[in-house]
Amino acid sequence: MTSNRLPDAFFDALPALQPGWVWLVGGGPGDPGLITALGLKALADADVILHDALIDERLLALAKPEAEKIYAGKRAGVRSCKQEEISDLLVTLAKDGKRVLRLKGGDPFVFGRGGEEAQALARARVPFRIVPGITAGIGGLAYAGIPVTHRDTNHAVTFITGHGTDGKLTALDWNAVSRGAPTLVFYMGRKFAGEIAQALMDAGRPASQPAAIVANAARRDQLVTVTTLGGLAAAAQNAPALAIIVIGENVTLAKELSWLAPQNA
Ligand code: SAH
Repeated sequence: MTSNRLPDAFFDALPALQPGWVWLVGGGPGDPGLITALGLKALADADVILHDALIDERLLALAKPEAEKIYAGKRAGVRSCKQEEISDLLVTLAKDGKRVLRLKGGDPFVFGRGGEEAQALARARVPFRIVPGITAGIGGLAYAGIPVTHRDTNHAVTFITGHGTDGKLTALDWNAVSRGAPTLVFYMGRKFAGEIAQALMDAGRPASQPAAIVANAARRDQLVTVTTLGGLAAAAQNAPALAIIVIGENVTLAKELSWLAPQNA
């Protein structure tokens, strides 16, 4: 796993995933190279790995051959695994003395329900560690050449989920959202892209404002669509399901900064 430049001593000095513990680890947005060193170490140590649908096979291949891999995720809103069942399973496995790795896409505490899982562990008195990851709304944009902030375009950014657990458009004060930060980043926003764009235009954002859909960010099939607020609804209809939507002037920087050439993807 390590090379001469990253000696075992480096990994040995990091905390270890102990029996009876759960680590909630962020796997990053796609590119397996974006996992953290702590995440790599947990992969190598874990007895059981509960992972969601967004985790790259190349990461799971780093597990011990005898490690149990449990798919515990939801895909495109389909509840293939209930949240309470996942939390209960984490508690049970830890109480059985297993080294438990809960591997989630992006960052576990960003729209990933990692907070709920951590609460279940805390309430059951199961010791746990949170290993942050690179979230799609920051790292995914970086893979599209869109800095989430830039001095010339935006001094603030708002992260928003397009829908809640009820599957409906998030109930927000759209006037306040529109006036708040210049740049808005939407997770799970594709389904309601038209409604979101309309609400922002009704709140005074110009239809000509730049917007982008970064689909399958940091994956081999990454697809970036640069459009405008007015064109967002139509663009979203043609975009793959796994997508981040970003609205704001920082999107224009992609023209200069998109560094991921198709042949390197
Ligand atoms: N915890 C994750 C987010 C989970 S919510 C994180 O920090 O990134 C799931 C949503 O994240 C998706 O609907 C999509 O909007 C976004 N997402 C996650 N990975 C993505 C990727 N590789 N490309 C584009 N969007 C992604």
